[in-house]
Amino acid sequence: MRFGVVLKFLLVLLASAAAQDTIANLQIEKKNDVHFVDGLDLAKKLKMPMTWQSEAGILQIENSSWVLGSAWVSTKDTTFLLPTPVQSKINDRRSFWLPLPSSLQVFERLLNKPLEYDSASAKITLGELKELKDIWNVNLEAKNNGEVLELKLSKPFVAESFYMHPNYILRLNGAVIDTTIFQDIAKKSALFNRIIFIQDKQSAQLTLMLRDNCEKVELIKKDEGKTLQILLRKKQVAAAAPAPAAPHPPMQSVQPSGKIKTIIIDPGHGGKDPGAVGIKGLKEKDVVLAVGLKLKKKLEEKGFTVKLTRDTDDFIELAKRPKMASDWGGDLFISLHCNAIAGKEMQQKAEGFKFYILRAGGTEEDKAIARRENQAIALESGKKGKDEISPAEWIILDNQLALYAEKSALLAGHLVEAFDGGSLRKLQTGAGQAGFMVLVGAYMPAVLAELGFITHPSDGAFLATEKGRDEITDRLVKAIIAFSR
Ligand SMILES: [Zn+2]
Repeated sequence: MRFGVVLKFLLVLLASAAAQDTIANLQIEKKNDVHFVDGLDLAKKLKMPMTWQSEAGILQIENSSWVLGSAWVSTKDTTFLLPTPVQSKINDRRSFWLPLPSSLQVFERLLNKPLEYDSASAKITLGELKELKDIWNVNLEAKNNGEVLELKLSKPFVAESFYMHPNYILRLNGAVIDTTIFQDIAKKSALFNRIIFIQDKQSAQLTLMLRDNCEKVELIKKDEGKTLQILLRKKQVAAAAPAPAAPHPPMQSVQPSGKIKTIIIDPGHGGKDPGAVGIKGLKEKDVVLAVGLKLKKKLEEKGFTVKLTRDTDDFIELAKRPKMASDWGGDLFISLHCNAIAGKEMQQKAEGFKFYILRAGGTEEDKAIARRENQAIALESGKKGKDEISPAEWIILDNQLALYAEKSALLAGHLVEAFDGGSLRKLQTGAGQAGFMVLVGAYMPAVLAELGFITHPSDGAFLATEKGRDEITDRLVKAIIAFSR
């Protein structure tokens, strides 16, 4: 057996010497039927620049971002959905394991060269340049009552569409999008302001982010399916009131140089919804409002423009909060909360901070926390007590996640780092993911902060004091500044 291993190793060496385009001695592991390649190793051997943020679990290779536990990979203009998430441990070996062969499509895009994986020999080879383009022409035409976006396809594809304002999603099964031909199309349109691309093995998906003046979208198939026309109907308005001017940043402040300028702070709950109630009757809604007000002041001093979803003790519907954030053109959304648990014994034990991003597939514990935070929806008039995200909402979320999952995870990573070693302990790893409804529809990096357990004796006492709230605020500011650089 030992000899067999040595022989195989020699054969690998010989093979890689013979064919120069085979990447030699790659770390490849197999688990069940799935093969994984060590991402750090692959990037190194392909001589690609990379940054590895172990705390946040993010690997950046050139301009692609990979996140542990996530199947989403974003590059500058396209997001890829892998059939299997990136793993941290395969067969007891720790690294940054990328599933094969699906991950190679991302590298192909970055290198502009095809990569092939032969599962029998467990080898990756760099191939000849070949062009893949299934949408070969795109044209936008203005009409009296709207616009027509016409796509010419290389062959007919099964096309599915889904419309839920402000998203119009077109999915072409089996197609590959070359996003370069869509350059500037959104700039020419008066009815949508952005196109988001998601590419996976099975389909190419494009989403039009519609403006408010778009009323209806329809898909027309022509030319036996080789031409697709997306008809966008303009809303007919009589005499429209002038749109309110965009808010100007305060004159005295110097804008931070980074891309983060406007920060939306969302103090959770409020009014008839007290949130969790802790020791000595301390209410979550009061703690997070106090922290939110302090945070606004300190961030403004640093030159940021800051908006609060509430600055009084008022009830605001969950879905309205991220909508406000998007309308205000926020660059970052942070929803402030305190954690809570039932039962005397557990209340003595459960303590610490944790930062959440919006994503499916969290632990049962995290899902329970999301359900508790989603309960506010039961207090909204005319709505049944639904506390989980619906399938239609998850479809919409694909777009939001495609654009902001990595940035949100990065922000959560900075928050964990800033809170680590402070007065509050770290709950588990300090970062988690679940279906928090207050984060749905925030088209920006978004995090929900659980700032300690209001039900824990020392966490609760800390949250009740000015000193505690000041420390929390300072740590939040530190993380936001680190993220904005
Ligand atoms: Zn809450």
